[in-house]
Amino acid sequence: MGEVMKAVQYPRIGAGPVVVEVPKPEPGPGQVLLAVTAAGMCHSDVALMSWPAERLPFQLPITLGHEGVGTVAELGPGARGVTEGDSVAVYGAWGCGVCRNCAQGKENYCTSAARLGIRPPGLGWPGAMAEYLLVDDVRHLLPLNGLDPAQAAPLTDAGLTPYHAIKRSLPKLVGGSTALVIGAGGLGHLAVQILRATTGAQVIALDVADEKLALARQVGAHEAARSDDMAPQRVRQLTGGLGADVVLDFVGTESTVRIAARSVAVAGDITIVGVGGAPLPVAFGLLPHEVSVTSPYWGSRAELIEVLDLARSGEVRAHVETFGLDQAPEVYERLHDGQVNGRAVVVP
Ligand code: NAD
Ligand code: ZN
Ligand code: ZN
Repeated sequence: MGEVMKAVQYPRIGAGPVVVEVPKPEPGPGQVLLAVTAAGMCHSDVALMSWPAERLPFQLPITLGHEGVGTVAELGPGARGVTEGDSVAVYGAWGCGVCRNCAQGKENYCTSAARLGIRPPGLGWPGAMAEYLLVDDVRHLLPLNGLDPAQAAPLTDAGLTPYHAIKRSLPKLVGGSTALVIGAGGLGHLAVQILRATTGAQVIALDVADEKLALARQVGAHEAARSDDMAPQRVRQLTGGLGADVVLDFVGTESTVRIAARSVAVAGDITIVGVGGAPLPVAFGLLPHEVSVTSPYWGSRAELIEVLDLARSGEVRAHVETFGLDQAPEVYERLHDGQVNGRAVVVP
């Protein structure tokens, strides 16, 4: 019998996550085996564990964890470019590597992945919330170069996703502009810092929990307020009546998309990152003129390099709480209940 390892799995529809023993993977041709040093816990995991079977794009059980960092434990035949013992972050939005979007570095928008059955770790491929993580190709690995693993893990999604969302709106985030961050959780508290580090915008954060608002202020939000019916009015007050040039919604529910629509400025951007699933109707006259609405997914490998560099320079720092693998099920429960401030990170 081969070696076994501990992994946090979502076993079947309707069940909670469990810690189980599974075979330790062996790297095949071109693959790299990492000893996981940190794995971040994303609210998307909570969301997908509530979906019906028809909506899940992969089979169960699945090992969770799409924010992974580790040290290179073993190289498969022909794998080159990293050395045993290297500390690396995993770029998770795996694509085919050859389609038009992949060729442009946008693997997160690969047009062949679904057809080829290519899935990100933790979202179909066995994830990072385990003692070992098998990585399909060396190109998904980025050197940590001194970053702390628990700090770096959230950057691979909770940092990269807002970075990608913000970067496309940079031309609108000039001096005197305003960015509105709705939901100051794992992604949101990093969005605030990325906005402060890369733009001249006034940053306003909204949340429903006081400790999240306190964290938003602590990490650089100029203003932080309750996410309620009064919020759009508050945003108008803080912007001389103009509204927010860019609204980043990290929740995506009926109440937050309504706040986004009522807070946005003429010719502004509304970017819906949260998977709450509430529609935002667009028609002439429903929104201020020339507002753009978009729903991006994750980010590119090149952008992850940029995020890691921002962290190395000290401008972006994930607020993390760390836990062991055995605690993961109860921490998922806390994340579900809104009881995690910043990012929960499992350190196997
Ligand atoms: P999180 O639980 O860490 O943070 C969510 C925050 O939203 C919490 O602070 C919570 O208090 C707050 N919140 C809840 N209801 C609110 C409301 N009505 N108004 C304002 N704030 C509210 O979650 P996370 O891991 O940061 O993920 C945020 C969202 O982004 C999730 O929906 C997740 O699935 C999604 N996500 C999307 C992508 C993508 O590529 N599009 C990538 C990662 C995560
Ligand atoms: Zn995620
Ligand atoms: Zn592709």
